[in-house]
Amino acid sequence: MTVHCLPPRPGTGRIAVVLGTRPELVKLAPLIHELGPATRLVHTGQHWDEAMSGRFLRELGLPEPELLTGVGGRPRAGQIAASLEQLDAAFTAERPGAVVVQGDTNATLAGALAANAHGIPLVHVEAGLRSHDRAMPEEHNRVMVDHIADLLCAATEENVANLRAESLYEPSIELTGNTVVEVVRRQLPDAASRAVLLARYGLRPDGYVLATVHRPENTDTAEALGAVLTELGRIAADTPVLFPMHPRTRAAVERHGLEPLLARLTVTGPVGYGEFLGLARHAALLVSDSGGVQEECTVLGRPLLVVRRSTERPEAMDAGFATLVDPGPELGALAAEWLADAPERLARLAATPSPYGDGLASVRIARLTLALTEPALSAA
Ligand code: UDP
Repeated sequence: MTVHCLPPRPGTGRIAVVLGTRPELVKLAPLIHELGPATRLVHTGQHWDEAMSGRFLRELGLPEPELLTGVGGRPRAGQIAASLEQLDAAFTAERPGAVVVQGDTNATLAGALAANAHGIPLVHVEAGLRSHDRAMPEEHNRVMVDHIADLLCAATEENVANLRAESLYEPSIELTGNTVVEVVRRQLPDAASRAVLLARYGLRPDGYVLATVHRPENTDTAEALGAVLTELGRIAADTPVLFPMHPRTRAAVERHGLEPLLARLTVTGPVGYGEFLGLARHAALLVSDSGGVQEECTVLGRPLLVVRRSTERPEAMDAGFATLVDPGPELGALAAEWLADAPERLARLAATPSPYGDGLASVRIARLTLALTEPALSAA
């Protein structure tokens, strides 16, 4: 017999939205806008610099966050411990009505543990993703957070099924859609600005590849990163490859002495969100190991080769937008194949709806979150 206890005691304070990385800023932005003045934004500082955070806060129109200190740059346990200790103090000083976390980062887990320690209702946005790859810390983070959350906002039917398969409490599970749909629609620059952007890089619509890699499986060893960069270089012999480099990847290139493999690529630092979307919108092909890009490609109607051994986002694959690919010669071979039939592929994907929802996820999540807090706050 399953026994479910009473949910945690709601507080009267504002809703603490705890985040720490670029993808959390992106995907929580629409929800923060919906919650408006009820939001208390807390940034753990996991990614805290102008390129990965500062300009995203401004571009996405987010409020100035409470910033934790001494978190970024530490190993995983240290990040979680340092964030948790400071969140504990912050929630003691002012008890939030609810805590919202998103995804699977160390900030997500720290925010969830702090809410749990205080008995504050916990909302998990993007609940139910599963790669079943236990070598990925993100898989552990998302499983742990789902198991202590009071409201599980699942983006897709697959995500709902994953939560049910783990016997999570049925009334806590809500199918909301993914906020990525609305954030892409809002932040994609208009056609004229995109034309200026492409001209700046000397690119022609449907005539280039946009690539990003940053995950440990592709950057930790010289062999793995060397294999990806070799294949990108091979693609660039025929088609321009734009490569906005994540700080972790830049450090790995330097550490492994792989600079010569960048020679054929157009390398930049990480670009702002609108710029990234504008470039992705007209790419003949995307190559990435990012989680967010696997969703964004479905809203932008662009094909994606996912340089990973597993994914927690099978929807983009099932809908025909993406496929997993090995970082070695398979990457170059499949890229050549997909670039060769780009016109038909792009036409087909332009007519394929995104599996991530209708663009109203943030409205649903805000309503459900406010309902978890005291009536006074819901009516505000
Ligand atoms: N992104 C960006 N600029 C870049 C590269 C990526 O704005 O130069 C965005 C991308 O559109 C996506 C997010 O950053 O929304 C992905 O972040 P990341 O790959 O760091 O994390 P993941 O999605 O893998 O968790």
